[in-house]
Amino acid sequence: AAFSEMPLSPYIIRAIDEIGYAKPTNIQASAIPLLLERRDLIGRSCTGSGKTGAFSIPAIEGVDGTSHHAQVLVLSPTRELALQIHCEMKKFAKYKEGVSLAVVYGGASMPDQIKQLRHANIVIGTPGRLMDHMRRKTLKLDHIQTVILDEADEMLNMGFIEDIETILNATPAERQTVLFSATMSTSLRKISNTFLTDPLTVET
Ligand code: AMP
Repeated sequence: AAFSEMPLSPYIIRAIDEIGYAKPTNIQASAIPLLLERRDLIGRSCTGSGKTGAFSIPAIEGVDGTSHHAQVLVLSPTRELALQIHCEMKKFAKYKEGVSLAVVYGGASMPDQIKQLRHANIVIGTPGRLMDHMRRKTLKLDHIQTVILDEADEMLNMGFIEDIETILNATPAERQTVLFSATMSTSLRKISNTFLTDPLTVET
């Protein structure tokens, strides 16, 4: 299959062409059509599989560029991964009108993040700092449509389980929930059973 055979808008096909991806990776070919149908999904895959594109392309496709509430939330275990996701999402979103991204993580200046959050419809962040912004009311989650947990196993290993639960519980129940993880532990199964609805599993 090719990206052009997927039900994607011309602006995103143009961005993908410009980035230079000739064809979808396995995880992209299986995950993108399901995510476009707004299914919940468990992606069993690690770095190098193209998982960032797999969740970013449908997420950007679903954003309403005329609304500047947070609509898509991406949770990342580390600042480095958050910045990487931000960089890739920005490229995919280049030709779509009204997409605004914010990336928030600990150890960086609050005022700059607060400024980004004021008009962001896609928010990428580490759990601790996202919680900080929720407490300060500089981040509101009542318009979230899609939550993506990237490297979910790493987030649990780092002790973020309660933060993840608090964040997910603050989003609308009818959201789409997407979980990417290289491994599936018992506690990750519990998260998935609690917060995902009828999830499909795709593997690399
Ligand atoms: P990820 O698994 O998201 O960390 O991506 C791993 C690397 O593969 C990144 O450098 C991407 O830019 C690259 N990549 C992702 N999707 C494709 C694709 N369809 N074709 C070629 N390279 C890709």
